[in-house]
Amino acid sequence: MRYSLLDLNLQPGVEIFLVILFFIVCVAGIFFLIRGIRKDRNRLLAEKYRIKELDSAVFTQMLTHAYSVADEDTHFGVMLIRINDAENLKTSIGERQMKRVVETVKERLVRVIPHGSKICLYGDDEYMVFIPEELDGLAMTDIATMTIKELTKPVSLISRAKINISVNVGFAVNNQFSSDAVDMLQNVRIALVNSAKEGVNLFSIYSRELAEQQTEEYKQYSEIRKAIAEKQFVLFYQPVAEISSGKVVAYETLVRWKHPELGILSPDKFLPIMEQTGEINWLGIWAFEQMLKDYTEAERNRRDGRNIIFSFNLSPKQLMYPHLAEEMRKVYKKYRVPAQNIMLEIVEFAIFDKVPEVASNILKLTQMGFKIAVDDFGLEMSSLKLLENISFDWIKLDKKFIEQSQDDFLIGGVIETLVGFAKRKNCSIVAEGVEDEITCNYVRGLGIGFGQGYYFGKPLSFEEYFNK
Ligand code: C2E
Ligand code: CA
Ligand code: CA
Repeated sequence: MRYSLLDLNLQPGVEIFLVILFFIVCVAGIFFLIRGIRKDRNRLLAEKYRIKELDSAVFTQMLTHAYSVADEDTHFGVMLIRINDAENLKTSIGERQMKRVVETVKERLVRVIPHGSKICLYGDDEYMVFIPEELDGLAMTDIATMTIKELTKPVSLISRAKINISVNVGFAVNNQFSSDAVDMLQNVRIALVNSAKEGVNLFSIYSRELAEQQTEEYKQYSEIRKAIAEKQFVLFYQPVAEISSGKVVAYETLVRWKHPELGILSPDKFLPIMEQTGEINWLGIWAFEQMLKDYTEAERNRRDGRNIIFSFNLSPKQLMYPHLAEEMRKVYKKYRVPAQNIMLEIVEFAIFDKVPEVASNILKLTQMGFKIAVDDFGLEMSSLKLLENISFDWIKLDKKFIEQSQDDFLIGGVIETLVGFAKRKNCSIVAEGVEDEITCNYVRGLGIGFGQGYYFGKPLSFEEYFNK
């Protein structure tokens, strides 16, 4: 005898409900089954390769113990792997997908590291691997190369989309350079920082020479990492004024590090290191969001109804980061700031058409409606040919260029040509580093419309200019 739901004489609504419920139960069952299989697979994989996963405290204890029982014939090494730009990646793909990326990295690592290794997730974006065997330069090179090759294959997200990640790897072995676990963990990080300085998807092996060059930089780098974790950065603002009226038309945002002991530090103390290690990508997105927040607050407090422009610096290194425009778009969408009131200051336009990532980022950013300024324009760029093909709104003349032109009338002539060119292109010229009235009169005489410098206002905190 066959029964169907219909035989039970149920109300039609109840039947539909039961069918839907049945499907939900099936789908949930399949979901948990797949999850279980996945977890089991990871466990089996780790068991197969005899890899043990430890938490960071246990990892340090284990390393300390390894040192305490080591004699001359005991050899081991530590490899540190960092997933680059994890913070930005998390913002762009979300926490759940990021966990998946980190998990995939582990699965792949387990396949390439020697049997019997121990692995540990360090923070959110690093893996530390303990390798209990003698490793010469060749062996370390092999392991690091395979690790990078495996980890940089595209990662599938839950949404089935694929993304590429980049990593850096540091390596250190126990020998005369490291006297204890703390030393070794520091050495392997010095190696990692060194590899990141050269670019992404590279590795570096710790050596004494490396340490001698690096100790100072390493110290600064550690401090910068701490400053990032503790959000010790702030934005300062400097006015850009119309020379004829003295009216402020824009503010340039300039980043500062509010150091707990040293006070306010200017970018030359930290940007070069951040550029080398890739932390600039984090800083850039943070600064962009902070500027949008500040803009929103400044608009709220303004009563004159005039449109104000905020300008923002983007270094070549930032523009080379393939996800820059996308990440800026995600942040930008959260705020209601007109894109035409944001000016992006870009230096070294010469690289514009040579690096595809730079060209693609600039194109996407202009399509979003942001304005573009050519920053630090100087003698070496005075060939206007390059500027013919790009559309931009400001040319900012470097302080040195203005100074040189005061002594050399030929350079003065170049500036006059530039002023004519800017008129044709419908863009404005901004003279940088205008410190006094004499310079102000001089640039006015050249026909330059706008100026920036101590004469119009120093870089000061947001509160100084907007919350008075
Ligand atoms: P920049 O874009 O050329 O910024 C102008 C620099 O000139 C600022 O230095 C400013 O403090 C200084 N300045 C302004 N007026 C005068 C003046 O009248 N006389 C003199 N002698 N100097 C003046 P600061 O703030 O130290 O910034 C240095 C550079 O750091 C900037 O040069 C910019 O390239 C970079 N930077 C600053 N903030 C950021 C940021 O958020 N992202 C990126 N990528 N770079 C930034
Ligand atoms: Ca600038
Ligand atoms: Ca400049």
